[in-house]
Amino acid sequence: MQVRITVSFPYEAPVSQSLFDRASVVTPGGVNSPVRAFRAVGGTPRFMVSGTGPYLTDADGREYVDLVCSWGPMILGHAHPEVIAAVQETVARGTSFGTPGAGEVELAEEIVARIAPVEQVRLVSSGTEATMSAIRLARGFTGRAKVIKFAGCYHGHVDALLAAAGSGVATFGLPDTPGVTGAQAGDTIVLPYNDLAAVRAAFAAHEGEIACLITEASPGNMGVVPPLPGFNQGLADLCAENGALYISDEVMTGFRVSKAGWYGIDGVRPDLMTFGKVMGGGFPAAAFGGRADVMAHLAPAGPVYQAGTLSGNPIATAAGVAQLRLLDDAAYEKVDAVSAEVRGLVTEALAKEGVAHRLQVAGNMFSVFFTDAAVKDYETAKTQESFRFTAFFHSMLAQGVYLPPSAFESWFVSTAHDTAAVERIAAALPAAARAAAEATA
Ligand code: PLP
Repeated sequence: MQVRITVSFPYEAPVSQSLFDRASVVTPGGVNSPVRAFRAVGGTPRFMVSGTGPYLTDADGREYVDLVCSWGPMILGHAHPEVIAAVQETVARGTSFGTPGAGEVELAEEIVARIAPVEQVRLVSSGTEATMSAIRLARGFTGRAKVIKFAGCYHGHVDALLAAAGSGVATFGLPDTPGVTGAQAGDTIVLPYNDLAAVRAAFAAHEGEIACLITEASPGNMGVVPPLPGFNQGLADLCAENGALYISDEVMTGFRVSKAGWYGIDGVRPDLMTFGKVMGGGFPAAAFGGRADVMAHLAPAGPVYQAGTLSGNPIATAAGVAQLRLLDDAAYEKVDAVSAEVRGLVTEALAKEGVAHRLQVAGNMFSVFFTDAAVKDYETAKTQESFRFTAFFHSMLAQGVYLPPSAFESWFVSTAHDTAAVERIAAALPAAARAAAEATA
C-alpha cells in the first residue's frame, strides 16, 4: 500500500525494518499476531524494545507516546514500579510449579470481590482460551449446540467464533478463515450488532437449540461501538426466557472501563463472563467465571473438561494481583480524564481541518471513525473512510505517537499519561489532521 507521509520528521526505521526482514524469514508474515504487521496501514511495524510509563521506545531508539497500551492491558502504563517489584519478588522464587499456588487464590478473590455476577472463576492464559472454555461449559451445561455471536465482535481465534459472515437475520456462520470447517462454524449464528429483533427471531427459529449468546460487553473490536440503551439487558432477558446462557466477553473492557468493567457501568447480569488483558498486568493471564451452579459443571468438580499447564502461573498472577490492587477509584478517574482530554484534542484537530469523523466512547475506551454516520454495528463501521485513518496514523507515528495500526480498533490510555505525554499528542495532531484531510482513496 502506498502511503503518503506529509510530515518532515525522520520516518525510516532501519533497525525495525531489518528485524522485520529477519522475522519474515522465520515467522509467517513476520509477526506473532496479525494486526502487529501494519497490513491495514502499510509501512514497517515498529519493533519495541522498552516501555516506561506512557512511552514506548523502538529498536531505532525513537520514543512514542503509546495509545495502544498493549491492546489494553497496560492501564498503569509500562513498567509500573509496584507491578515490576511484585514480578521480581515472585520470579526469584521460581517460575512454574504445576501445583496450586497462593497467587491464584488471590487473583480469583480479587475478581470475585469486584464483579458480583462472578461467584466462581477459572484462570486460563489467554482471552481466546477463556471464551473457548466458556462456550464449551455453556454447551455442557445446557446440552445444546448452537451459539449466537455478533458480526464485528471478536472473541479470540476460537474456531466456532471465527465466523462473522452473512447479513440478515439468523445467518448461519460461514467460516471466516480456511482451517475452520463448516461443522465448527455451523452451530454459530451470526447476527447484526445492536439488533434485538434479530436476536429474538433467532431464538424463535431455533427453539431449544441455543446454548448461549456471546457478546463483547461493549464492543471494541470493530472500533468502539457501545451497546444501544437496553440492548444488553434485552440480550440477558432473551437468554433467560429461552434457557440459554448469556456470556459477556469482558476481555477488553474488564477492569479497564471501571473497577467492575462494563458490568460496573451497565449493571446487566450475565451468566458467564470472560476476562483477560488488564487482569494479567501484561502477562498471559485470563479467566472465565460466573454463576456457581454453572461453574460447578467444570472439571474436576463436574464433567466439562478444561485444563492448562500454565494456568494460574505464579508470575502472571502476581502481576495481575499487583495491578488490580492499584486500580482504585482514583486510578479510573485519572484514566477517564486523560481519555476525555485526548478525545477533545483529536476532535478539535479534525474539526479544524474539516475532516468528517465520529468519536465513539465506552468508558475510557474510544475510537475515531472517519465518517459522519453514527456507528451502531459492523456494517456502519465499514462505511468509514479508512484511507484517512491511514494518513492520520502515519503522520502520528512519524511524530512519535503510536496509534493502533487499524481504523477498527479502540485506542487505550493509562494512569501514566501525564501532561507531558498529552502535550506531545496535542502537538502531533494538527499535521495528522491535515494529512487525513488531504488523503485520497
Ligand atoms: N475477547 C475480546 C473482546 C478481545 O478483545 C480479545 C482480544 O483482543 C479476545 C477475546 C482474545 O484474547 P487473547 O488475544 O488474549 O486471546
